[in-house]
Formats: sequence, structure tokens, C-alpha cells
Amino acid sequence: MKDIAYVNGNFLDINDAKVSVKDRGLLFGDGVYEVAGVIEGVLIDNWAHLRRLERSLDYISLELPIDLKTLSEVQKELIFRNNMKEGTLYLHVTRGESQQREFEFPKDVAPSIVMFVQHKKILHISQDKLRAKVMTLPDLRWKRRDIKSIALLAQVLAKQTAHENGCDEVWMYEDNFITEGGSSNAFIIQKNKLISRKTNETILSGITRQAVLKLVEQESLLFEERPFSIEEAYQASEAFYTSASVFVMPVISIDEKIIGDGNPGPLTIKLRNLYENFAKSFINQENNE
Ligand code: PMP
Repeated sequence: MKDIAYVNGNFLDINDAKVSVKDRGLLFGDGVYEVAGVIEGVLIDNWAHLRRLERSLDYISLELPIDLKTLSEVQKELIFRNNMKEGTLYLHVTRGESQQREFEFPKDVAPSIVMFVQHKKILHISQDKLRAKVMTLPDLRWKRRDIKSIALLAQVLAKQTAHENGCDEVWMYEDNFITEGGSSNAFIIQKNKLISRKTNETILSGITRQAVLKLVEQESLLFEERPFSIEEAYQASEAFYTSASVFVMPVISIDEKIIGDGNPGPLTIKLRNLYENFAKSFINQENNE
């Protein structure tokens, strides 16, 4: 079975799913996106993703042509048509197709909505894959990283460099402090205290991060919300990163410096298990509807 994509009202074979060469997403990176995890065919924490999409759209003065409820129905239909069990659903909204390549917003142009799915193991990932190596690199991005912009060149280059160096993720830094991962939020643990940078314009407020922090609160775990330096990361007893597509990913080395004893740490494993249970609760909810 071929994958099915959604483009502006139509479900199409992935090879027939096309946008205009004058789509402003293509020309200017003028759009925003979301990636939500899917397990057992159910979207995880999707309303939090859709609310962040709404906020991103608002920041760039783009109005969604359909309401969020309808959008979520389209997402579900796409999962159904792809017979998708586990992976991610990518969704972006761009400012649509311009007549001319002009920077200013075009008038009377409908935004363009594109969605597709990627099959991948998130929950049923093998234990030997839960050991990420991280490389640090300077954060070369713009200053509004809270907007989930589709313009990702800085992350593309940084993640490629990390990959070429045998690493799974990049942790970007600014003034010697870690901002966030190339496509994830960064955490360290010092003894039994969790540390993560406060969300503001310098990083994306990750949906997985928000959920993990709620679990940390429920469990009364020690948590400090502040930036941490590269040196602190090297010295951490445990480290991990979070995103919708990896949940909670243990880090075993940073710039080839071994973290803890070089294995996923106990608090990280606890948080991964708690998050997995949180994610599974969406499947139960859906089944009870
Ligand atoms: N930061 C960046 C830069 C990201 O691209 C992502 C992944 N979308 C995240 C953090 C994690 O966000 P979420 O937990 O919502 O996937």
C-alpha cells in the first residue's frame, strides 16, 4: 500500500501530492508546522500540538482556513487511510501560493495545508536504541525559536554535522549555555535534581517537555528551571532529551564525554516509563469514546 498524503482538502497518493513551486513555504520558509506522535493509530497529546499550532499561526498572522476540530478529523482520517499504527504525523501550514515572489503577504491567498505520516517505532523501540550520543554546536538560529517555523536550515546543518560525527542529536548552545536539541528539548540531572532551561523566545516550548514536567511535579521530583552550561552537561549524572517522535531519549555521551556510567540513568528510565504510560492513556481515552 502506498502512503497517502493530505494537500488542501485532498487525500492523495504520496507521489501525486504536490504544491506549487510558488508556495511561500518553499520560497521563504513562510509557514509553521507540528509533528505529533502516533501509537496504536492514536495521536498522542494532539490537542496540545494543535494549540501550539494555533499560537504559531497567530505569531505569523496566518489564519487557519478550517477550525482545529475539523483539522483533527483530517488527521484521524489520514491515519486511517494509511493504516498507520506507530510513528509521526507531520502537518504544516504555509502562507500559500504567491503570484509574484514578493516578500509582503499576498492578498486573497488561501493558506496551504499539507500532512503526511511517517511509520516509525516510538513506543516499541528496542532497548539498544535508547542510548543517544549528543554533540554540541553553536546555536545559529534566529531569535524567535518559540515559533515552530518550517525554516529549519540551522538545524538541518547542525544535525547533519552531528550525524557525520556519529551522534544522534545536536545540543545547540549560546553564550556557553545549552539552548535545546536540534529537534528536541534538553535535560540534565545533577544527583537527583532535574534541570531544564525555562521556555521563552530562546527555545521551543516542547509538548513532550510540558508533559514530562507535569509528571515530575506529580511525582514530587526535584526540578530546577534554569539554563545549564556545556560543562554542567558534561558533568551531569544523567541526561536526556524529549520530543514527540522519541518521547524521552536517554543520552549516554555528550561530545564523547560519557554521562554517568554510560548507560541510561535510573531517573531518566523512570521518566520515560511515566511518559509512556501518559502516552498510552490517549489510546485508552480514544477507545472509550
Ligand atoms: N525543540 C525543537 C527545536 C524541536 O524541533 C522540537 C521537535 N518539534 C522540540 C524542541 C520538541 O518539541 P515536541 O516535544 O513538541 O515534539
